[in-house]
Amino acid sequence: MVVLALLGCPKPPPPPPAAAPPPRDDVLATVWSQTSAEAHAAALTVYQAAGAQLDRALEDPTWTASLEQSGDLGALTPAIVVDVDETVLDNSPYQVRNIRDGAGYDKATWAAWVDEAKARAIPGAAEFLTEAAAKGVDVFYVSNRSVGQEEATRKNLAAVGFPDTADTTAFLFRPTEGDKSKTARRTKIVETHRIVMLFGDNLFDFVEAEKPDRAARTALVEDHAGWWGERWFLVPNPMYGSWDDAVLQYAHPDPAKAHQERVHALDDAR
Ligand SMILES: [Mg+2]
Repeated sequence: MVVLALLGCPKPPPPPPAAAPPPRDDVLATVWSQTSAEAHAAALTVYQAAGAQLDRALEDPTWTASLEQSGDLGALTPAIVVDVDETVLDNSPYQVRNIRDGAGYDKATWAAWVDEAKARAIPGAAEFLTEAAAKGVDVFYVSNRSVGQEEATRKNLAAVGFPDTADTTAFLFRPTEGDKSKTARRTKIVETHRIVMLFGDNLFDFVEAEKPDRAARTALVEDHAGWWGERWFLVPNPMYGSWDDAVLQYAHPDPAKAHQERVHALDDAR
């Protein structure tokens, strides 16, 4: 103020402009997932390709999609294991809410969305699983939604036409907060079932490793290259996933830093 007075300035300086909002990297992916005919076609491609393999899978007693079992499994009931989020249920409206609210993933808002039980089905999923169930296949929903979210999820799945939703043993949700591993839950299933197909939107729905980097993730895909489209089926999810965690080295930087790291991770072939 002393300086201002000396300069004879009658007014205080204007406030600095508001900081620009941090970049949102999830908008285009959400537009693709929710509005594109291509996303719809990709999902149908996955589930109809699976439908074309199902009889072969059921007839061969050594056929398994689970790394947790092998040998002659003919005495076991056939099963299909599906992940829930972005594999059989479309949660893109939750992503849209976050975009419009300037928010990110948050346990409380996610729980509220799950409780609404109004996610739509991923195209082709309910039809395929209903056909499989009619052929004697037990469907297991192996999800990292928490155990407390089973009831709302069963209600949601039933409302959009999924089979086996009245059977509580078909739901193997995340037993404890930190336990995201699905291997232990599949190990339980293979005691009584031959898992003929796995469906997911995340590499870890099929095979797990501890924070693998990008090269290790690609190697996990290549280790079982012949299984994709035959017994492992991946529904594209560009909105979120461990692919992004790997780019961010499993840290949780703020949005601006995350944006920088994603751009830095790209290859322009120059
Ligand atoms: Mg998922």
